[in-house]
Amino acid sequence: MAQALFSDTIVALSTPPGAGALAVVRLSGPAAVAITAAVFSKKSLPEAAGHTLHYGTLRDSASGDVIDEVVVALYRAPRSFTREDVVEISCHGSDYVVRQVLALLLRHGARLAEAGEFTKRAFLNGALDLAQAEAVADLIAADSALSHRVALNQLRGGFSQELRELRGRLIKFAALLELELDFGEEDVEFADRTGLARLLAEVRGVVAGLLRSFELGNVIKNGITAVIAGRPNAGKSTLLNALLREERAIVSAIPGTTRDFIEDEVSLDGLRFRFVDTAGLRDNPADEVEAIGVRRTRQRVRQAALLLYLFDLTQMTPGEVQAEIKELTEGLDLPVMAVGNKTDLATPETPKAFAAELRTGESGAETPLVFVAAGQNQGLEALQAALVAQVRGSALENTASATIVTNVRHARALETAAAHLAAVQAGLDTGRGTELLAADLRHALAALGEITGEISSEDLLTSIFTQFCIGK
Ligand code: GDP
Ligand code: ZN
Repeated sequence: MAQALFSDTIVALSTPPGAGALAVVRLSGPAAVAITAAVFSKKSLPEAAGHTLHYGTLRDSASGDVIDEVVVALYRAPRSFTREDVVEISCHGSDYVVRQVLALLLRHGARLAEAGEFTKRAFLNGALDLAQAEAVADLIAADSALSHRVALNQLRGGFSQELRELRGRLIKFAALLELELDFGEEDVEFADRTGLARLLAEVRGVVAGLLRSFELGNVIKNGITAVIAGRPNAGKSTLLNALLREERAIVSAIPGTTRDFIEDEVSLDGLRFRFVDTAGLRDNPADEVEAIGVRRTRQRVRQAALLLYLFDLTQMTPGEVQAEIKELTEGLDLPVMAVGNKTDLATPETPKAFAAELRTGESGAETPLVFVAAGQNQGLEALQAALVAQVRGSALENTASATIVTNVRHARALETAAAHLAAVQAGLDTGRGTELLAADLRHALAALGEITGEISSEDLLTSIFTQFCIGK
């Protein structure tokens, strides 16, 4: 690094607050080593090479008291996360020790880091681009195998690489436009136009693919809300309990805000499903309370990403099932899975009859159909597999690129880029002036540049990094 951007040295606790076996206090900046050395027992520290560990004691220079036995990890600029000199002090993880260590380092000239400031420095010093910096936050928050993989890919620059290629092609496109401008209107060759159109179509295709991947990205990052609906006694609560019992990786138990709803999260094959049990649906609710429950159920269905319609095989006809699904999803673009319950009570022919009639439904669209005996823990694996397949299948098939966009900010920027590229396309089709095409192209390039931070404002950086915790 030729020129250090920051002259001050920041410090923060980088592990979660609260008691733990160990805590890590991190310093970054030109005086990181000197400040540490001033309170550390091992006097050779200032001369030590980067990527080394040093065991010793931290001592309060004023009182002479030993604060803790620690291990100091030393990283020399530019071979560190922030590209600055970085010191990580592993001390014992009591609040008291951590407070003492921090106070000591602050007294010796360090400044308490702001939220996300280490990562912000890494970005501003060129260690990461903006999309990669955001992936640091995603990686820390990742709580399923898939969200972890996506964040890691983004951190390693997979997404950034794809964007760079995209920008590269657009710049090539812009260069061709310039060429056209140089030649002047009448000299433009037809082949150039076709070339431009082809290049534009290609780039628009990639942007559209990335935008489609956001559907899956969102699901990976935030989970899928699946509402279980059906008539009273269909077995909804039994099914929910069975699904939760099956799966050991229960993330959290969220008691519903009302008695009608029980929510819980289950991780299936790397995807987080949030199942919502609802009050039973009945055409003629028995009383006011039940009527309210039914209304709330419909409301929940509207907010869901997936409707799991559960019915008792012995109590309903295929026609009734179809009618209720239709009524529940009226006006909604909602994927539905029909689940026939209580196979243990039904004749072996019953599922076949449902399969035959439901699959040839008038709607034309095929509703996946699964049979279970929730009370007997039967058919649950097939149901889980069908759920994963439905969610991932539909989203992944649409995702040609290996990159999955998970960040709303990125999706918005891609939308902006897509809109400007569409304008360029329209301009080409209608023979609009080259100057106008070039202007739209610049807007598209700017939108893509915002994702990786090639184009960024202080406001944008602040809004991104303040979402981080202090210490990151
Ligand atoms: P909900 O009103 O839809 O939540 O239905 P429940 O989960 O409370 O179940 C209603 C009744 O059906 C209970 O007595 C359950 O034990 C029973 N039940 C649920 N699943 C099955 C099943 O697969 N087989 C049989 N035989 N009974 C079931
Ligand atoms: Zn119930």
